[in-house]
Amino acid sequence: MDKYLRKESIHEIKGIGDKTAKLYAKLNIKTKEDLLSHYPTRYLTFEEPRNIRFYKERADKDKKICIYAELLSGIKTVYAGKYKISSGILYDGQEKLDVKWYNSPYIASSLKAYKRYVFVGQISYKKNQPFLEHPIAYTKEEYDKLLGSLAPVYPLTKGISSNHLKKTIQSLLQTLILEEYGEFLPKQIIREHMLIDRKEAIQKIHFPNSFDEALQAKKRLAFEEFFLFLYNMGLEKISKVNLKSDFIISGEVQELLDILPFTLTDSQNKAFAEIAGDLASGKIMNRLLQGDVGSGKTIIAVLAMYMAYKHGYQSAIMVPTEVLANQHFANIEALFAKLKNPPNIILLSGSMKAKQKKEAYALIESGEADIIIGTHALIQEKVNYHNLALIVTDEQHRFGVRQRQVLAEKGNMPHILVMSATPIPRTLAVILYGDLDISIIDTKPQGRLPIKNAVIGKNDRGKAYRSILNELDKGYQAYVICSMIEESENIEAENVMDYYEKIRPCIDEKYTIGILHGKMEQKKKDEIMQDFQSGKIHILISTTVIEVGVDVKNATIMLIEDAQRFGLASLHQLRGRVGRNSVQSYCIFVRTSDSETAKKRLEVIGNSNDGFYIASEDLKLRGPGELFGMAQSGELDFGIADIYNDSDMLKLASDSVKKIFKGEMILSQEDRKKLEEAVEEYRKDYYNLTL
Ligand code: ADP
Ligand code: MG
Repeated sequence: MDKYLRKESIHEIKGIGDKTAKLYAKLNIKTKEDLLSHYPTRYLTFEEPRNIRFYKERADKDKKICIYAELLSGIKTVYAGKYKISSGILYDGQEKLDVKWYNSPYIASSLKAYKRYVFVGQISYKKNQPFLEHPIAYTKEEYDKLLGSLAPVYPLTKGISSNHLKKTIQSLLQTLILEEYGEFLPKQIIREHMLIDRKEAIQKIHFPNSFDEALQAKKRLAFEEFFLFLYNMGLEKISKVNLKSDFIISGEVQELLDILPFTLTDSQNKAFAEIAGDLASGKIMNRLLQGDVGSGKTIIAVLAMYMAYKHGYQSAIMVPTEVLANQHFANIEALFAKLKNPPNIILLSGSMKAKQKKEAYALIESGEADIIIGTHALIQEKVNYHNLALIVTDEQHRFGVRQRQVLAEKGNMPHILVMSATPIPRTLAVILYGDLDISIIDTKPQGRLPIKNAVIGKNDRGKAYRSILNELDKGYQAYVICSMIEESENIEAENVMDYYEKIRPCIDEKYTIGILHGKMEQKKKDEIMQDFQSGKIHILISTTVIEVGVDVKNATIMLIEDAQRFGLASLHQLRGRVGRNSVQSYCIFVRTSDSETAKKRLEVIGNSNDGFYIASEDLKLRGPGELFGMAQSGELDFGIADIYNDSDMLKLASDSVKKIFKGEMILSQEDRKKLEEAVEEYRKDYYNLTL
């Protein structure tokens, strides 16, 4: 028996059996507590319906509309390729409006002709003709009950409806559970920052009576998340600061610098000097190396690992994807091949055969392996290092702080270098990475031309393909990125295949097109990447599996389909795959939606190559009504809090934690006890989470 009811499995909830529990698991919901912290991403509002003319006269296309109208006749459903489209005509006594639903044939059977419903949806345009796109229909009675209220909209998975979630959460809130959500923040803090009570916040975040209530709830919960995170980090920092290291590493790496095809930039030199200083200091290094995509972080890590090797120590670099591990392996091996005494480098990744892994383990344990490159297979229990002195994590934003912790426990307290391209303003980085020292590479290598961007409509694809051909004719290569429409096992593969069929006839036969997507077997992925790297494949059609880190210098053009579907941060990362040598590179964003937000967001990315600027504009583009952040960034992934959107809460939480640690805020004994319990529990959950 668990001490707390909230820690109980959702199995204990009436009406949730094995099957539903499995679906919930897909949403990462295992316990009752998980369910309560499955927060809505937004709220539906129910406004007074208006007539069709009102909306037709207003041009804003994204606007949600709500009309009371009858269906002029029955709904007809036709098949268009893979889609079933159901359409009809609405009439409000004055004006008509077409209506369409996708893949919802049941709509046709559930709505009656000549009966009035309240339709809530969005206006879209086809050939300049407005139509109502995929609305929800309510009877008048149903709608009247909802009028003026806010309904939570949850992240879903197939098989679990928003309604189901809503009801389950509602009933859970009413049971004992809430008794276990006692306040743990000290009174002074609550008062000083005008936070609402914890219980109230949990209730109101799911079922607010107004936006303001939702906002207050979010503010409180965000504060709490940051507070616990920072408090825990404060504890970690105390235990880490000035820890002596067994690995004192210093010396020359000139022979490696000599064989590089370039000279380091000033900011690379500075970053490397800071790292070298740490390694020689006799204390354990805990450093973050931050630098925009393409700023040249990898070589800094390679230099540090090479230094460790020269001292007879092992080092490892951990990356988030196998594609990236293979690429680093190939590049680093090729570089070292030019040395007189190259280190022995090996690869360790999850998809290797058991036998290969065993061999790798043996080489690592005996110390024959000097530099180990791999995915998080590197921190699996079976790996015993011989004398691991340095661990680097690349593209850190994909890893959590927890992984960092596990890393730190590998071997005998190695030096740690984390590398990240997440553009966080320095003020926030200092707070969020408070346990790390920070080095920043803030310039791109010399001789790089800024990438030329274009945002185009779908009618201009022909031109885009010609631009691609133009680059291929010059001997360069191209990426085409497809988005994923739905979260489904096969659709990713399908999209890419479909796209291949579409583009093939437009591209000269002599050029090879390869495809790459997440559902492919690793071996196949590697082959494709290798063929692209070596130039055998001229165009690579891919999903975002290539988002991070991939480095093929000869690729000079990228086309991103349905670009508005990606977050700006992803687009920026993706684009970072081109512009990796001294010739002009191009990125073409295909915008397939006319919505104003799509236009504005793509304008931002189209006009700038600067990650910091893009992140800050991204933030501005989220209206104040949008409570919740968009795609989050792994490492800095909080439940409800968003480091950009809630940066004010982050700063407040940081101040409060600092005051407590410095003894500037005196807590009552009772408050201290409650706080310590909460932190203890947080730590338990935090470090128990599976990798
Ligand atoms: P990121 O910071 O995104 O990881 P990489 O380390 O992959 O960037 O570097 C991007 C490209 O720039 C690589 O091809 C790398 O070899 C090259 N590069 C790194 N430093 C320099 C430099 N100082 N001058 C020229 N090219 C460089
Ligand atoms: Mg990189």
